[in-house]
Amino acid sequence: MPAPDNLIVGIDLGTTNSLVAVCDERGPRALPDPANGSVLLPSVVRLEPLAGGGFRPVVGEDAKRLAPDYPASTFSSVKRLMGRSIDDAAGDIPYLPYRIARGDQDTVRVVVETPTGPRLVSPQEISAHVLRALKERAETALGVEVRRAVVTVPAYFDDAQRQATRDAGRLAGLEVVRIINEPTAAALAYGLGLERESVRNTGPQLVAVYDLGGGTFDISILKLSDSAAAPAGTGDSAGTRFFQVLSTAGDTHLGGDDVDRVLVDFALGRADRTRDRLSPGDLGRLTAAAESAKRLLSDADAADISTALDDGSELACSISRAEFEQLIAAWVERTIACCRRAITDATRRLNAAQAPAVDSVVMVGGSSRIPLVRRRVAEFFGVEPYTAIDPDQVVALGASVQASILSGATRGQLLLDVIPLSLGVETVGGAVAKLIMRNSTVPTRATEMFSTSVDGQTSIKIHILQGEREMVDDCRSLGVFHVRGIPPMPAGIPQLQVEFLVDSNGVLSVSAVEKRSGRRAAVQVIPNHGLTRDEVERIERESVVHAREDMQRHRVVDLIVNCKLDLKWIGERLERLKDQVEPAYGQRLRGGMAALSAMVQAAEADWRAVDANLMHELKEQLDRESIRLQELSIAESLRSEPPRR
Ligand code: ADP
Ligand code: MG
Repeated sequence: MPAPDNLIVGIDLGTTNSLVAVCDERGPRALPDPANGSVLLPSVVRLEPLAGGGFRPVVGEDAKRLAPDYPASTFSSVKRLMGRSIDDAAGDIPYLPYRIARGDQDTVRVVVETPTGPRLVSPQEISAHVLRALKERAETALGVEVRRAVVTVPAYFDDAQRQATRDAGRLAGLEVVRIINEPTAAALAYGLGLERESVRNTGPQLVAVYDLGGGTFDISILKLSDSAAAPAGTGDSAGTRFFQVLSTAGDTHLGGDDVDRVLVDFALGRADRTRDRLSPGDLGRLTAAAESAKRLLSDADAADISTALDDGSELACSISRAEFEQLIAAWVERTIACCRRAITDATRRLNAAQAPAVDSVVMVGGSSRIPLVRRRVAEFFGVEPYTAIDPDQVVALGASVQASILSGATRGQLLLDVIPLSLGVETVGGAVAKLIMRNSTVPTRATEMFSTSVDGQTSIKIHILQGEREMVDDCRSLGVFHVRGIPPMPAGIPQLQVEFLVDSNGVLSVSAVEKRSGRRAAVQVIPNHGLTRDEVERIERESVVHAREDMQRHRVVDLIVNCKLDLKWIGERLERLKDQVEPAYGQRLRGGMAALSAMVQAAEADWRAVDANLMHELKEQLDRESIRLQELSIAESLRSEPPRR
C-alpha cells in the first residue's frame, strides 16, 4: 500500500467512543466503520486469552456488546487511567468493572485473567488497540497506508497523560505528530482561529467550549490571538492564529448517565416501585428505555418509557418535555456552576476587573443536544452556541483540520468568505424560496414571512435548501426542522417568520417563529460541508442551463397553490351564502371555478401541459368576479358577530 507523506489523520481518543477523521479537498469528514456504517468506535477492548498464551484483542462494538459476559477481561474508560499514578486514579477505580493493580513506579495496570494466572497490562496498550482499529479503518477507507495522526486530549491532561497518549500511538504504529486539546479541536472544526481574508479580527477573541458527554463534563475558556503575541509552548497554533487555554473546569462524574438514572427513578415512581425490587436485567432494560426516551425528548414534546419486567409485568409511563426539564434542571445548573467557575478563573488569568464577554460558544458531546442545556448555555454566555456540527464528531473533525494544516494540504477551505450557492426554504408544491443569494458576503442575514396552505396545521416543516435551481428536487437539502405546537388556524392565517443568518465562520442559523402563537424552533448547519469546488461549479452551470424551464415550473407551482386557496375560499362562501347570491351571478362564479379547477388538475398532472399565462388570466378573472361575493360575506359577518373593540 502506498503511504503518502502528507497524509495525517485526526483522532479523537475518547473515554466512551473514539473516531478518526480526514480533511481533504471535500472538507473534514469522519470515516465510518465499513461493517456497520457507524463513525463511532466504542473505546472498549476485550483481551481474549489464547491457548498458547497471549491474547486476541476484540475492539469496539463487538467488545462492548459482550462486555456483560466478560466483565473481568473487557476494558472500557481506560482514558481515566492513562498516564496516572495509582493514587491519582484512586477516585475513578471504584467505578470500573475490572481489576486494577499497581505497576512499576506506582503506575496503573489493568489485570487480565488468563488460564495461567493474572497478567498486568498498561492502559497505553489497551488504548493502542483502539488506535490500531482506527488506523486500519482509515486505511480501508482511503486505500493508502496511514502512518501519522493528530490526537486530541482534554485540556487539563498533564505531561504524563499526554506522553502516555503519544506512547499508545507509537504502540499502534502511528506517529503522533501533535497532541492538541479537545476544546481547541472543537473550535477549529467551526473555523475559529483559521486565517481568513474577509474577517479582520479586532483584538483577542474568547471561545467557550462546553463538552457534556455520557460520564464527564468539561468547560474550557480559550483565548484566540495572533501567534506573534503568544508565549511559546502555552497553547495550540492553528494556521497563523493561536489558542491559549485560559481556564478549565468540569466534573469527571457528571453527564448523560445521570439523566438516565433520574428518568429510571421517575418511571419507577410513577409505577409505585423501587429499584431494590428489580433484577439486574430489569434495571438494564429500564435504563436503556430511559436513555432512548431522553434522546427522543431532544426532538419531541413527549416520550414513552416502557419495558417488560422479569416478573411478567409491564412498566410504562410517558413524560412530557416540560416534566423532563423540571427533573433535570438541577443537573443542568451543576454544569452552569462549572461555567461560572471557569469564567472567574479566566477573568483572573486576564487580570481583568470584570468577567470578559465570550464571543463564541461551541457545543460538544452527545448530551449537548438536550434543548434545555442549549438554552441555559445561551443564556449564561449571552450568545447563541454553535450546534451545526454533530457534537459527537466535532472534536475529531477539528483534529483533522489541524492535521491538514500541518501537512500543508488545505487551509480552511470549508469556510466561506462569500456564499457560493443560494440558500432558501421549501414552499408548498416543492418550490424553493431563496432567502440569501449566492455571492453574498458573510456575515449576512435575511428574513421572510410564510404561512400555511392547509387548515388546522399545528406543525410547520422548514426544509433548508442550497442551490440555484427553482425546485426542491434539483437543490441540495441541508436539513429539516419543525415548528410545533401551533394552535389550529385556517390556512393562510399563521404568520411564520423565517430568519437566515450566516455568521463570519460560515455557520448558517435558521430560526422560525410563528408570530400568533409565539412557537419557535431553530437549527444550525454548515452549508458547504462536503462540497468541492467542482461541485459548486457544476451546480452553477446547471442553473444556467435550466433557468427558463425552472422559472416556468416555479411559476406554475405557485399558481397551483394560489388558485387552490382561491377556489376553496370562493367555494366555501358560495355554499354558505347560497340563499343570498343572485342565481345568475352564482352561475357565472361556478363556471369560472370549473374552468380554473380543470386547469389546476391538468397542471398538477404535468406542469408543462398548461399555459401559465392563461392560468394566471383565469385566476385574475375569477378574483375580480368574486369581489361581490366578498362584499356579501363581509356584510353577513357584520350581522352575525358582536362588534369587537
Ligand atoms: P463521552 O464524551 O462520555 O464519550 P458522548 O459525547 O458520546 O460521551 O455522549 C454520550 C451521551 O450523550 C450519552 O449519555 C447519551 O445518552 C447522550 N446523548 C446522545 N444523543 C443524545 C440526544 N439526542 N439527546 C440527549 N442525549 C443524548
Ligand atoms: Mg466526549
